[in-house]
Amino acid sequence: MSTLRILIYPDPVLCKKCVEVSDPSSPFIQRLILNMQETLKKSKGIGLAASQIGVNQKVIVARLWKDEYVFINPHITSQSREKEVSEEGCLSLPGIYLNIKRSKKIRVKAINQEGKKIKIKAKGLLARVLQHEIDHLDGILITDHR
Ligand code: ZN
Repeated sequence: MSTLRILIYPDPVLCKKCVEVSDPSSPFIQRLILNMQETLKKSKGIGLAASQIGVNQKVIVARLWKDEYVFINPHITSQSREKEVSEEGCLSLPGIYLNIKRSKKIRVKAINQEGKKIKIKAKGLLARVLQHEIDHLDGILITDHR
């Protein structure tokens, strides 16, 4: 495993849309996931999108209270009308913290690290992190939420 360099705004790669992963079990994607997890852990962040390390493929990792999450080709299938404002930071925007309004609850479909289709319901901080990271896959940063 190796730690990857996290791209910092205004790197143009951060603003590009990522493409779907065609083969989740490929060695490239499997190594990418391990390296992203290592990078996230070292940086003490809670979420990381592949675009943040310069790979324009739809992969995100999250780490909350020592639980690790991997989502390949994630998409939000439903989101609560009820929203919540909370302060967010981003590893690609050091020192910047903004109040961002997000849905309190979401449902996400994705593919897991083993290549299986998964559906999850997320609320609270996990819902927020997933919305933040899925935004990254669409080239959207917290500074775009205005
Ligand atoms: Zn971010």
